[in-house]
Amino acid sequence: SMESPETTSSSKQPIERVVVIGGGAMGAGIAHWIASHDMDVTIQELDSKTATAATERLDQLTTSWRKHHSATNDDEQRLRSHLSVTTHTDAIPSADLVIEAVVERLDVKRQVFQQTEPLLADDAIMVTNTSSLLVHQIAEVMPRPEQVAGLHFFNPVARMELVEVVQTTETSMATTERLLRFLKAIGKTPIVTADAPGFVVNRVLFPYLGEAIQMAAEGFDVSQIDQEMEKFGMPMGPLELLDHVGIDIASHVATSLATILPHSECSAQDLQRMIDKQRLGKKNGNGFYRYR
Ligand code: NAD
Repeated sequence: SMESPETTSSSKQPIERVVVIGGGAMGAGIAHWIASHDMDVTIQELDSKTATAATERLDQLTTSWRKHHSATNDDEQRLRSHLSVTTHTDAIPSADLVIEAVVERLDVKRQVFQQTEPLLADDAIMVTNTSSLLVHQIAEVMPRPEQVAGLHFFNPVARMELVEVVQTTETSMATTERLLRFLKAIGKTPIVTADAPGFVVNRVLFPYLGEAIQMAAEGFDVSQIDQEMEKFGMPMGPLELLDHVGIDIASHVATSLATILPHSECSAQDLQRMIDKQRLGKKNGNGFYRYR
């Protein structure tokens, strides 16, 4: 049935103010994208050091955004006026939507949800950008799980149109519909998916990436694999893509998928060996490729 007792009169209001918790690769990309669509966004970070790092990511994203859109100084001013970075929770009470994009750890994410919840407006929605955890495991610490969902953006946010809207069994229709309207307003293509390991995209993508990982481990030439798959029509080679995603993040996804796809266990182990050697991908300049 469609009766949802939690539906408040204001839950049909469009989302206008957003807080992104965690301004790393994904959080900064998401916040920047939203601000470039004339909505106010605040990034909430841990401390002054990580806030500075988030601000630097926003600066880099702004530089490439300017080039790509031939933007003027006025355009840039307007974009910047929508963006702020804080180390406090001061922006939460006025947020319509809070997007959690902190490190991929269930305990940390649960804590972030728990600490944020008492500050949320009654009709606010809180989502997680997790790639490998189950949304309901994070949502179960929330007294209003009907206002919680997954919002799975892809990397790099500015280039990937698709966003998975992950519905738990408790996510209300009102929440999903409001998120769909929001994603359309910021020019993304939403797909609603169930809360299962890997959702849809990573479940299909990872077996393909896994074969590339194993071929690299067997000694195949990394750039040949990538070039060949690009010539085949993929926008980016599989191993370069893994460097972009981050070997640590990819390893989490492979481990999570191994619960349903036994084959993923091999990729998870190969990726763990890379992590042990500090090969995390583009983020630290060394992955399947070397950077800088
Ligand atoms: P990241 O390590 O680049 O960024 C995490 C950020 O969170 C850091 O800046 C850190 O300072 C901050 N942080 C940690 N704890 C915090 C807290 N308690 N409060 C506020 N900030 C905190 O990681 P990422 O690659 O941006 O991934 C973030 C999330 O997005 C993960 O859940 C990941 O699974 C998911 N994701 C990643 C990708 C990808 O390709 N990297 C794609 C889709 C989804």
